[in-house]
Amino acid sequence: MARASEQSAPSGSGGAMEPPPDIFDAQALDLEFWLRPRTIDVIRPASKERAKLLYWKDGEIIESAYQDLCHIMRDVNGGNEARTIDPKLFETLWGTQAFVQRYGIEAPLEILSGYRTAASNQKLREAGVPAARQSLHMVGRAADIRIANLNSEVLGGLVKSFRQGGVGFYYRAGPKGGWIHADTGLQRTWKG
Ligand SMILES: [Zn+2]
Repeated sequence: MARASEQSAPSGSGGAMEPPPDIFDAQALDLEFWLRPRTIDVIRPASKERAKLLYWKDGEIIESAYQDLCHIMRDVNGGNEARTIDPKLFETLWGTQAFVQRYGIEAPLEILSGYRTAASNQKLREAGVPAARQSLHMVGRAADIRIANLNSEVLGGLVKSFRQGGVGFYYRAGPKGGWIHADTGLQRTWKG
């Protein structure tokens, strides 16, 4: 599939790749994409864990891998409590990663925040970290993510194009450049 925009992609490897946003539209994905086995490669910077898990195949969730994923998404800052995570959230996270992998972006998906206990969410609020009072993190329906070498505006735009829920854009100065909040609640976007 030749696209004019691909010609401007940097050749070679190792450099930051920023494919043009116009090609980051999940609605352009075909059925074949959605029927593929789903392996997600995630990292938790806070606990330095990394896992590459095949959690969905032939239309069904692979229970053991799904449980491992839920564990990875646990509240690493609040007593390591875990809970069931909405499979729809994993669908968006996997879809996002599988999408950018097509453009040579192989970095793991960084999970900055997954499930949060109410106490842990409150602690963040008190520390001035942006966290909603009724955060969907507290019910296993939200994640704050980042992908190395991927501009957060491009990442957020892609997550939004899945039309699976809310997307928050948290831009920050510095080498890490912020993060994207993705949830499976109402479809809406905001900047925080
Ligand atoms: Zn969040």
